[in-house]
Amino acid sequence: MAHRIKVWVDQTKCIGSALCVDTAPDVFALDESGRACVVDPEGDSEATIWEAAEGCPVSAIIIEDIETLEQLYP
Ligand code: SF4
Repeated sequence: MAHRIKVWVDQTKCIGSALCVDTAPDVFALDESGRACVVDPEGDSEATIWEAAEGCPVSAIIIEDIETLEQLYP
């Protein structure tokens, strides 16, 4: 089933801790700037993406409703 959430990283906040990459390695990766980006928004389950977002120390992972684009987190 397709995800009901849109996920992206606010790179102005990301400090490159890579915690999200550890939690959801098929969704997040560090890019050449050393900050996280989304490589596959459907690479892990929604629950795992939520876990990664909630584990980000600077709340740089943004989750939105995929239809309304209402921000759900943080
Ligand atoms: S957990 Fe947050 S700060 Fe760390 S790399 Fe991921 S988005 Fe960046």
